[in-house]
Amino acid sequence: MIMSIAENVARVRAEMEAAALRCGRNPKEIKLCAATKMNDAKAVRQAIAAGVDCCGENRVQELTAKLAENAYAGAPVHFIGHLQTNKVKQVVGKVDLIQSVDSERLLRAINSEAARQGIRQDILLEVNIGNEESKSGFRPEEVLPLMEKLGEFSNVCMNGLMAIPPISRFPGENLQYFQKMFQLSVDIREKINDNVLVNCLSMGMSADYADAISCGSTMIRVGTAIFGARDYSKLSSN
Ligand SMILES: *Cc1c(COP(=O)(O)O)cnc(C)c1O
Repeated sequence: MIMSIAENVARVRAEMEAAALRCGRNPKEIKLCAATKMNDAKAVRQAIAAGVDCCGENRVQELTAKLAENAYAGAPVHFIGHLQTNKVKQVVGKVDLIQSVDSERLLRAINSEAARQGIRQDILLEVNIGNEESKSGFRPEEVLPLMEKLGEFSNVCMNGLMAIPPISRFPGENLQYFQKMFQLSVDIREKINDNVLVNCLSMGMSADYADAISCGSTMIRVGTAIFGARDYSKLSSN
């Protein structure tokens, strides 16, 4: 049976709520970000109508195309993919939150572009919590020292942390990484200054969001469980 996007969003919401209640958390503390990559404007509109809290886009080209179609009307849009420094102009000021700030070089580029536009860009720092060679992101031990330097970046507002842990091979495998992320968010909360907020802890995807919620996630990013499996064959054919 093929479920509609609205039914999928309702099911994810129910599971989020159950996961929150199981660990004594208020379900309202946890936001649902629809990971919209490879889904068209029509699907995005359906997810927004079904009540997701925000949309997360991975690729600059897709973001630009869907912004032109006004696909995200009614919901905030976040950037959640790897961002090259030469593309910051296409993202800064166009999205409500850049979740995937994965290097100091990118942070600097975002800050400069935000200064040029006369705005303050909300960001999260992406942490490579599994210390994976193949992934970008700050190493966990780099995050605290960076916090102390955030005063230099007066055109960004640090909202918290984001993580994409390793692909898990069995249920519960990522709990260790979610726990480490939570601890890191607690550690940096003690270093708060003017442009540092650490309210947001973005972690958990279709396969593991209940575990992420049990470890303190405040935002889950869900693609497959809302839109169904992505059709990667379309990518290679065009
Ligand atoms: C695709 C993607 C997701 C969602 O993944 P699913 O497993 O389809 O839920 C979450 N976060 C990021 C950064 C992604 O690229």
